[in-house]
Amino acid sequence: MSLAAVLHLILHVLVPGLVARIFFRPDWRRAWTIMLITMLVDLDHLLATPIYDPDRCSIGFHPLHTWPLIAVYLCLTLPPRTRLIGLGLMLHMLLDFSDCAVQRGFFDALSRLLGTG
Ligand SMILES: [Zn+2]
Repeated sequence: MSLAAVLHLILHVLVPGLVARIFFRPDWRRAWTIMLITMLVDLDHLLATPIYDPDRCSIGFHPLHTWPLIAVYLCLTLPPRTRLIGLGLMLHMLLDFSDCAVQRGFFDALSRLLGTG
């Protein structure tokens, strides 16, 4: 596994933790835990062959990483009851998107997100 892949995984843990510490102070451990659980969205990688490909952009490729569902994740951030789930999923998608943008450039990543690439 490359250094970039390890850094990507570390960011998937640290960024929700940082958001939890800053914005959900009294109960940040619960907030962080809920956001970490949303990493289960990567179970859709099990449908791909190979399951892990460091050069593949998840956004727009894996079924749970497509824009219609990302719109649903965004909506989940609105009701207080689902806010942490939506936030965790949106942070996950933003990190995956940034990974694609670093690999292939911002506009290629955007076209993959929109299904035009
Ligand atoms: Zn992902």
